[in-house]
Formats: sequence, C-alpha cells, structure tokens
Amino acid sequence: MSTYIVMDLEWNQSPYGKEKSIEALPSEIIEIGAVKLNERMEQVSEFHQLVKPQVYRGMNRIAARVTRLSMEELQVLGQPFPKAFAEFVDWCGEDYRFCTWGPADMLELQRNIDYYRIPNPFGFPLYYYDVQKLYGLELGDDKEKLSLEHAIDRLGLRQDKPFHRALDDACYTGKVMRAIDFERWKTYVSVDYHRIPGNREEEIYLEFPTYSKYVSRVFPSRNAALSDRQVTGIACRQCGRRLRKKVQWFSLNQKQYFCLAVCPDHGYVRGKLRIKKVDDEAVYVVKTVKSADDSSVEKLMEKKMEHRRKRRQFLQKVKKAHKKEGSHKISS
Ligand SMILES: [Zn+2]
Repeated sequence: MSTYIVMDLEWNQSPYGKEKSIEALPSEIIEIGAVKLNERMEQVSEFHQLVKPQVYRGMNRIAARVTRLSMEELQVLGQPFPKAFAEFVDWCGEDYRFCTWGPADMLELQRNIDYYRIPNPFGFPLYYYDVQKLYGLELGDDKEKLSLEHAIDRLGLRQDKPFHRALDDACYTGKVMRAIDFERWKTYVSVDYHRIPGNREEEIYLEFPTYSKYVSRVFPSRNAALSDRQVTGIACRQCGRRLRKKVQWFSLNQKQYFCLAVCPDHGYVRGKLRIKKVDDEAVYVVKTVKSADDSSVEKLMEKKMEHRRKRRQFLQKVKKAHKKEGSHKISS
C-alpha cells in the first residue's frame, strides 16, 4: 500500500428526531472530503464534493451548526450520492488504504453505498487506519477517544481552517499522520466491521505486537457463539499452544467476557470477547488476546470477584422469591 486516502465525511440526520429517522440510513452523507498522501506522506491531491440530499430534506440542528452547510447550498451545489461516490472512487485510484479519524466514516460511507444499492467496491476484509487510535497509541492511551481538534492543538499544528468541514478535517487528519511516528504505529491496522465474515473461511485473524485479534463469522445466537471452540479457545501468543484456562469466561454485562489462561512457558494470557449484535438474535464476536502482567492479572481477578458477588446476590434474590412463593402457597 503506497498511497493513503485520508477521508472525512459530513452527514445530516433526521431533522425531526429519531422517530422520523430512516433505519437503513440514519446518517445521510452531505460532503466528501479527502486528501491523497504518497508513500512519503506528502499530500499530492485533494478531493471535495458536496452531496445533494435525497432522504432528509431539512438540516438537522446539530449538523447545520457543526458544518454550517445549508440545505439550499447542498441542493444547488451538491451531486447525488451515487455520482459523487463514483467520482470519489475514481479519484482514489488503485492500491490505496483509507485513513480516517475514528471508525464512523467507514461505516457511514458503506451504509450510504448500501442504501443506494451500489456494489461495494472495497476489498474484504476492509483494512484502514484509524488515525484517532494511532494518535492514542502514541499518547500511550488508546482507550480515550480524543477529538481531532484536541490532537491538532496538542501537536502544536497550525489551525488555519475551521473544523468540521470534510476537506479541512481530512487535511488535519493528514497532518496528524505526519506529526506522529506513523512508521511505528502503522502495524496497528483497523478492520472495518460493516461487512462481517459470512463463514468460517472468511473469519479474520490479526497479529499485533501487543495483542492478537479475531473476528468471528455471524452466529444465530450468543449461546451458539459462546459454545464455539474457535471463539472460546485461547492460544499462547508466543508458542501457539492451546492453553488451559485459570479463570473461565465470565461476564459482568453480557457484552464483554473475560478469561485468564496460562502457558507453562510464557505465562499468563488474558482473553476478551466483545459480543456484537447483528439483529435481535444473531451476533458476531471480536476476541482479543494479550499477554498479562501482574497488574492486568490483578485487575481481571477483581472483575471476577465482582462477578462472584453479583452472582451471589442474584442467587439470594431467587431464593427469597422462592420462599415468598412457598409461604404464599401455604397461607392460601
Ligand atoms: Zn507459550
């Protein structure tokens, strides 16, 4: 990948609240902005196009305030999405990787593609750079989601344009890429979850210096996912051995599960499952596996204790309810 397409989108949402929002298209793209960087990270080209709205004919208050775009402007200067998108893909060329600030742009772009039934032109799996994440890694904290403005400020980069217009934000994101140690962080590629693996062959395995990631296919239910050996198995990151678990998978909220496994030669390994809903029943799972030092083992054990406490409280409640029911029966 020698070319980077740094992309930013602006979108509009239903001006009349969530009830009037169209489920298949909650966010209608109104502006596409992008800059192209060569392998030396130099900006070599720009793309900008306003999009003529077809779905929401009034501006959402927040979108209007943030972008300062008006419906009139979009109607007059915008291209219909299919045309704007075709021109954008043309401009992107071949053999490139997308870079965005956060994962939302990749998702919304593809939702708009799907809405207009345009065949998805991007390869699968779709890898991209989440520059917000890379910036977080450089700061030593990739949990906190920092704004692009914050990053530009903190890196001492010049702010000569307003934020929240697509091309300007794409330029700024490109500047952040140049300011951080991109060579160091570029192994931390992100994978898009809009299209999920359809079968076992398509499942995704990624190895990073500090953790590994697995994206499962879709399962008909959470239970089906949690009884799949590929999902629940933990392998040592160093020797590849299938590991025995010290602490079996447990969850505090049914969304995230944790486990602790141990390799006799390489020590503790922490597993984490994130259960992602596809619809009311179906799910897919993102598993990450990390070597665990003393402090992360301790943190996990604390979570496990909390889990035990909650379980005990739950069982006591059930017991009490049973008793009540029992006494009720006797008295009646
Ligand atoms: Zn090992």
